Amino acid sequence: MKAVLDHVGIAVENLAAALAFYRDALGLEIEAPEEVASQRVRAHFVPVGESKLELLEATAPDSPIAKYVGKRGPGLHHITLRVDDIHAAVAQLKARGAKLIDEQPRAGAEGALIAFIHPAATHGVLVELKQSPAASHQSPTVSRVQRFSLGDLELVSLCDGFLQVDGGAMFGSVPKPLWEQEAPPDARNRIRVAMRPLIVRGARTMIIDAGVGDKEDAAFVEAYGLDRAKALDQSLAEAGIAPEAIDLVLASHLQFDHAGGFTIRDAGGRLRPRFPRAQYIARRGEWDDAGHPHARSRAAYRADNFVPLAEAGVLQLVDDDVSIMPGVRVRRTGGYTMHHQIVLIESAGKTAAFAADLVPTAAHLPEAWIAGVDLYPMETLAAKTQFLKEAVERNTLVFFEHDPAIAAGYIREQDGKRSVVSAPG
Ligand SMILES: [Zn+2]
Repeated sequence: MKAVLDHVGIAVENLAAALAFYRDALGLEIEAPEEVASQRVRAHFVPVGESKLELLEATAPDSPIAKYVGKRGPGLHHITLRVDDIHAAVAQLKARGAKLIDEQPRAGAEGALIAFIHPAATHGVLVELKQSPAASHQSPTVSRVQRFSLGDLELVSLCDGFLQVDGGAMFGSVPKPLWEQEAPPDARNRIRVAMRPLIVRGARTMIIDAGVGDKEDAAFVEAYGLDRAKALDQSLAEAGIAPEAIDLVLASHLQFDHAGGFTIRDAGGRLRPRFPRAQYIARRGEWDDAGHPHARSRAAYRADNFVPLAEAGVLQLVDDDVSIMPGVRVRRTGGYTMHHQIVLIESAGKTAAFAADLVPTAAHLPEAWIAGVDLYPMETLAAKTQFLKEAVERNTLVFFEHDPAIAAGYIREQDGKRSVVSAPG
């Protein structure tokens, strides 16, 4: 195994005193701190050549770092080695009988996979293995903006950032030992999901869904581990598409991780449509349900995301599986919500589909892998079975709105087992 020293973690008792040494006396630069709420720790990285020092400061008395310092005093806490293939590294260690803290790699900060090795195996030093997201075997070509051409249409997959969502909520009745192999959870059992709106450029320029947007408060950011370091604004800029160029905004449904980006708060604090020239299109049934949520759907529907559209007179409600623009039509699937819809795209004999929450990630290909938060899972099962069959038969380019690594791919079926061939775009 090839390993590179990523960083050395130092548990600090008094941050000011530590900075007086590392920053002032040594003259090193300290990066902006990163808070890891689940560990009640604040990390201050100090670049030193190819590697970094990490000053670890406890933010609460019950923090593991506070306990460590209380027991052994400040000092060396762990070293982190970066590997290309963490699954192979962990398997190799297991085969040699090395004692591990994490038997399976799990999600760390910023999309990395990590696994800790027990100090009993490492001769007294806590060692963390880390695989950076760029090296992740399932995402060699991850980009936040990916372009595809489909006949006369251009499709551009964008990204509004990532959320950490409860793994059980994402996989419903699937046992954790199965889903955690597909989606490694963090210390709070949350898995990383992306928010990937899709641009369709043809007779008109349309965006399907718009991510979570920027109206959420600190409590939300903490609860969902919201990562919008690069969000829809940057994605649009990278794709060369101005918000003013969007003619149509189409909603798969109106829950916050899809409709949050439909509105923004202006300098005066007023809510207004985020795409100033666009007509917004939603399904009437979904609109009615979003405006009259019940105990189980209330948390996901925020009036601020959609009511301002009606007030601004830019909302158009559709009742059926209609054509939205040439080559683009919607299909109600129900399941996730009663009026959840997917988008079917066709041009010059080629087909693509925006699967929204019907097949949120590539890990959801098995029919029974249905999210626990689906309101009508048996409807999801029926719609998904039909959809996947068609997607295989028609060689449909399927867009996975929530997949952390695969924006789009083709679904293959062999010996009754399905897989995704990710499309490079
Ligand atoms: Zn969703």
